[in-house]
Amino acid sequence: MSDTIEKIKCLIIGSGPAGYTAAIYAARADLKPVMYTGIEPGGQLTTTTEVENYPGYPEGVDGPQMMEDFKKQAERFETDVRFGIATAVEFNDKVGGTHKVTIDGSKVIEAETVIISTGASAKYLGLESEQRLKGGGVSACATCDGFFYRGQDVIVVGAGDTAAEEATYLAKLCKKVTMLVRRDEMRASKVMQNRVKNTPNLEVLFNTEIDEVLGEKVVEGVRVVNNVTGEKHVVDVTGVFIAIGHKPNTELFKGILDMDETGYLVTKGKSSKTNLPGVFAAGDVQDKEYRQAVTAAGSGCMAALDAERYLASLE
Ligand code: NDP
Repeated sequence: MSDTIEKIKCLIIGSGPAGYTAAIYAARADLKPVMYTGIEPGGQLTTTTEVENYPGYPEGVDGPQMMEDFKKQAERFETDVRFGIATAVEFNDKVGGTHKVTIDGSKVIEAETVIISTGASAKYLGLESEQRLKGGGVSACATCDGFFYRGQDVIVVGAGDTAAEEATYLAKLCKKVTMLVRRDEMRASKVMQNRVKNTPNLEVLFNTEIDEVLGEKVVEGVRVVNNVTGEKHVVDVTGVFIAIGHKPNTELFKGILDMDETGYLVTKGKSSKTNLPGVFAAGDVQDKEYRQAVTAAGSGCMAALDAERYLASLE
C-alpha cells in the first residue's frame, strides 16, 4: 500500500550517463525532474576504472568520478536525485494521462512523463562456483579488473565481440589468456576473430565450457569440459572473465512496454518514444548495439527533449 503520493512533471528511473544527461536537459527546461538512482547509483561506469573515450576528458577519467561529475551537473540545475528503486509501474495509455510508479514498494510517484534509463547488467553463467567467487577472481569486466591480473593466466568465456575484445585486451596485460567458446565457431566479427587469432598468447578452446571454477575464496583454476567428447581438464588460472553479453534491466516493464526478443525496450524511429505516450527510454536499456557512455548520454538528451516537447504539445 502507498504511504505517500507525489505529483511531478518528469520522473527519471536510473542514474547512468543516460539518466543524468536526461536530468540536466529536463532540469534546464524547468521540468523539475526527480531521479531515482536504482540499486547501483551511477550505473555500470561505477565499476570501471579509467574512461578514456568520453570527449571532454583529454587525460581520461575514473568511472566513479565521472558519474559524480554527472550527478553534480544534474544537481546544479536542481534535479532531485534520490536513492530508491522503482518496484511497480502503472503506465497510462492515454495522451496526457498520469503514470504511476511505486518506489521501494511504498511511495507512489504520479508523473506526467517518465524517462526509463535503467541500463543493462552483465550476464553470468549461473554456476554455483562462479557466483561464490565473484569478486574473488571472477569478473564480468576486463577493463575494470584486468589490471589485477598482470603477468598471470586468465580465462575468458564467450565468443562474441565483447569476449574477443576483452580477451585481446587481457592478452596485453596477462601472461596467457585462454578463451572458452561453447560452439565450434565464434560469433564475433571477422575483424575481431582475426585479432584473436593473431594474438600469440591467446589460445581458443572450441566446444569448451566451464565445469567448475576451483578455489574456496579465490580462483585457483578452472575445470573445463569439452561438450562434444565429455573430456575434462583443469586450466591453471587466477582470473575468470565472463563475457557472454548483457541483459537489459526491463523486468518491471514486461507486458507493458514493447520489447524486442531479447528484452530491450523498443523506441520509435530515431526518437526515445516507447509505445506509450509520455514514457521514454534512453541508454543501454534500449540499445544493444553501441552501449557506450557517450551514446547513452546522447540518448538521454533526446529523451528529455522528447519529454519537453510532449508536455508542450499538451498545453
Ligand atoms: P553477444 O550476444 O554478441 O555474444 C555473446 C557470446 O556469449 C556468444 O558468443 C554466445 O555464444 C556466448 N554465450 C552466451 N551464453 C553462454 C554460456 N552460457 N556459455 C558460454 N558462452 C555463452 O554479446 P556481446 O556482448 O559480445 O556483444 C553484444 C553486441 O555488442 C553485439 O552486437 C556486438 O557486435 C556488439 N559489440 C561490438 C563491439 C565492437 O564492435 N567493438 C565490442 C563489443 C560488443 P553463442 O555464439 O554460442 O551463442
